[in-house]
Amino acid sequence: MRYSSTNGPIDLVGIGIGPANLSLAALLKRHPRVRARFFERRAEFQWHAGLMLPNASLQVPFLKDLVSLVDPTSELSFLQFLATHKRLLCFINANFPQVLRREFNQYYRWACEQLDTLDFGREVDAVELDGETLIVRGNGWSQPTRSVVLGTGLQAAVPDCAKPWLSTTLLHASQYLINNNPVEGKRVVVIGGGQTGAEVFHHLLSDSGAMPASVTWASRRWNFAPLDESSFTNELYTPGYSNYFYDLPETLRATLLAEQKLASDGVSSALLEAIYRRVYELRYVTGMSCNLQLRPARELIAVARRGDGWSITFRHLQRQTHETIHADIVVLCTGYAYGMPACLDAIADRIERSGDGYVVNPDYSVRWDGPKGCRIYVQNAAKHQRGIADPNLGLIPWRCAQIINSVAGCQLYDVDEAAPFVHWEAQPMAVQSGTPDLEMMS
Ligand SMILES: Cc1cc2nc3c(=O)[nH]c(=O)nc-3n(C[C@H](O)[C@H](O)[C@H](O)COP(=O)(O)OP(=O)(O)OC[C@H]3O[C@@H](n4cnc5c(N)ncnc54)[C@H](O)[C@@H]3O)c2cc1C
Repeated sequence: MRYSSTNGPIDLVGIGIGPANLSLAALLKRHPRVRARFFERRAEFQWHAGLMLPNASLQVPFLKDLVSLVDPTSELSFLQFLATHKRLLCFINANFPQVLRREFNQYYRWACEQLDTLDFGREVDAVELDGETLIVRGNGWSQPTRSVVLGTGLQAAVPDCAKPWLSTTLLHASQYLINNNPVEGKRVVVIGGGQTGAEVFHHLLSDSGAMPASVTWASRRWNFAPLDESSFTNELYTPGYSNYFYDLPETLRATLLAEQKLASDGVSSALLEAIYRRVYELRYVTGMSCNLQLRPARELIAVARRGDGWSITFRHLQRQTHETIHADIVVLCTGYAYGMPACLDAIADRIERSGDGYVVNPDYSVRWDGPKGCRIYVQNAAKHQRGIADPNLGLIPWRCAQIINSVAGCQLYDVDEAAPFVHWEAQPMAVQSGTPDLEMMS
């Protein structure tokens, strides 16, 4: 094993503490000989606080927690959290279809309390190379290390035409609850037809005592489309598929990512149903005067100031006509994108890039021309090479286990999974006993 000595550089520094690097820290608890520290700019753990809506639920089963996928006996599992807080039986009885995101956030914060490798309130400003060592620097502190794991997450994606106007009343969804605009009697426009757009639209209609005057929900998609959660689609969230995808040609990977969009970015069916029922209720049962507009196949093309509010122009993607709407509040549920963090500036030109992304090795280290022993690993930054599972919670422990094995130079975690049900890979034509004759089936 390649472990550092007590006084030299440590083995690993994690930058950012979201679910990804928290999983890494949790899995390293069993292996204290891998000397690691994690730095987070925020004063405490927060999981997308601006979108922690009261009824928002997890889009994965709770077994996709920080550890269970590779270490189901870990003391940092979600089940252990429930047991520690004496709520296991009630949790079973409650029979939630999905766990509330607020409860998973409690679990994450509890896990943070069990770990002594986490430093909050420490922004990493720079990663530099000093001989054979990486130096991670913040304001008035530095930490030498042999490897760095970037867990800095994604950045808010804002359409170009909206960028100059970002403010308290025209905001990205990540700021939705932080801004907490009063909406009663206001004209609100929600842009984006994914899960976040749906959650915000539903939330705006939830308080019968403080309804907006109007709510428009616009999406580029041709309809408000459900997340595909069927069993075979869920095979895309397996290590086997991630490895298969990794070996495909770049252009094919890009095509597949576009085709598989609704397997990751659709709206959960339960939420679509709740929205439909609420619209029905408001229109036919309560008779409230909130004007609801559902507008799919619309692309935002222009934003302008209009008095104290906004003038928002859409192109209808099927008719090629334009529509302009006036609004007091505009919420951009336009997603997230990866951007290389500024703290890498000093070594950025030594890191190999492909389009907007890094060139990522099978162990999640990036290709760069630094010393052989110095590695930079990435979490949540390899969708273009690993597929739609990469930004989600589902495979995080498996990815972390691979990173740990690579840093340790030996197999501390078993990352070999059973073969997936689906044969993604082309098979040699040899006929094996007990399997169908492939030649005859073609
Ligand atoms: C509202 C929302 C709900 C989601 N729900 C689900 C779900 O149910 N299921 C699912 O599979 N996926 C979900 N996702 C997708 C994904 O799982 C989450 O985005 C997840 O938080 C990604 O984890 P992360 O650790 O990569 O990044 P983040 O959670 O974004 O954490 C990154 C951290 O790095 C810190 N940081 C950044 N730069 C620095 C620096 N220079 N120095 C120090 N710290 C720094 C940030 O402050 C932040 O705390 C959701 C995404 C969103 C936006």
